Amino acid sequence: MADMQNLEQRFESISVQDENLDINAAVTAQHKQKGSLSHAISLTNLSTTTTTTTTATSQNRLKLPLQKIPTNAQAKPSTLTKITLPSQAAQQQRSSAESRISDPDPIAHLPSAPTAKPKNWHLGMFEIGKPLGKGKFGRVYLARERATGFVCALKVLHKSELQQGKVEKQVRREIEIQSNLAHPNILRLYGHFHDTKRIFLILEFAGKGELYKHLRKAQRFPEPVAAQYVAQMASALKYLHKKHVIHRDIKPENILVGLHGEIKISDFGWSVHAPNNRRNTMCGTLDYLPPEMIKPGREDNFYSEKVDLWSLGVLTYEFLVGEAPFEDSMVMTQRRIARCEMTVPPFVSAEGRDLIKRLLVLDPEKRLSLEEVEVHPWILRHCAKGGEGKK
Ligand code: AMP
Repeated sequence: MADMQNLEQRFESISVQDENLDINAAVTAQHKQKGSLSHAISLTNLSTTTTTTTTATSQNRLKLPLQKIPTNAQAKPSTLTKITLPSQAAQQQRSSAESRISDPDPIAHLPSAPTAKPKNWHLGMFEIGKPLGKGKFGRVYLARERATGFVCALKVLHKSELQQGKVEKQVRREIEIQSNLAHPNILRLYGHFHDTKRIFLILEFAGKGELYKHLRKAQRFPEPVAAQYVAQMASALKYLHKKHVIHRDIKPENILVGLHGEIKISDFGWSVHAPNNRRNTMCGTLDYLPPEMIKPGREDNFYSEKVDLWSLGVLTYEFLVGEAPFEDSMVMTQRRIARCEMTVPPFVSAEGRDLIKRLLVLDPEKRLSLEEVEVHPWILRHCAKGGEGKK
């Protein structure tokens, strides 16, 4: 019992210091407001607002100074075999709509899928390690399951803050969706538990931190690296779309990097479980929004999983160029997206440029499919085998 109290005290007293407090932290914090659980941009407002143009890029797409990349290499993750998926019981009660994303068995292809009964997780089952980061609604800590030594990341969300931010539904959806996904390039959510004040998410530990920081440090990625990442993204998106999940918020800030350099899509706060009919909710982040999602007031602003293909085009551009293709003032970005006005700088190879241009296509139906992305000459040139992680 005393042990438990110590743990609680220690846990509550941990404070997460962003590496670059002061100005960098402020910039990062502002930028991170674009995150999925952070801010929904009201596109209706956007379309009618003209006063925001003055702050231009600074508000819309902040350019970060170089940042120190956290090295978490000292933490040795143990094998996946030891973790038990806790949400199995919950899975059995899923509604038919929910079960859409659970079949076939999402964990079946893992090296050693957990078979034990679901655990009743609680905080005492974990040793809490160093803080890994801080988002708008939560802090994330390195953690180890005591019984097995399994290393993971524990995300702590305060219920009161979720209520205040009116994001409880979003978090619930995020948990529901993410806990049913298992792919090497998608951050695993092993389970969750809660106490009176907090919700804890047991996440896969992404040992190399945020892709966004790697990109800012490198300014832009060499083409072979970018191609590896794009191939991994295509593989992950193919998996998601097969399960009728649209991510809707693909951008570097929502991608983490695993210990072997493989990317892990995280942040499913904006993802939806797409039924057969198309969706017309508006959400997400301006720079990466596809044209079909920025036509407020029009009846045809429905969209499908093809929105993720547009975002993949934006991502490919940003990997190769170092900034997003439509970066401008908010109003101008919106206008440029609607017209697909962008230029690919000459230093980008012809094949890289070709892939970008085939993804950034106004008509969603004419965008390259994920299968086509995987065999695009640019991908084939740089990836011995497309798809899963960079070794
Ligand atoms: P979030 O609230 O999800 O934006 O997380 C805040 C920060 O914690 C991120 O920007 C990462 O730096 C870090 N972080 C979150 N999840 C993980 C993870 N699974 N592994 C490693 N670091 C993480």
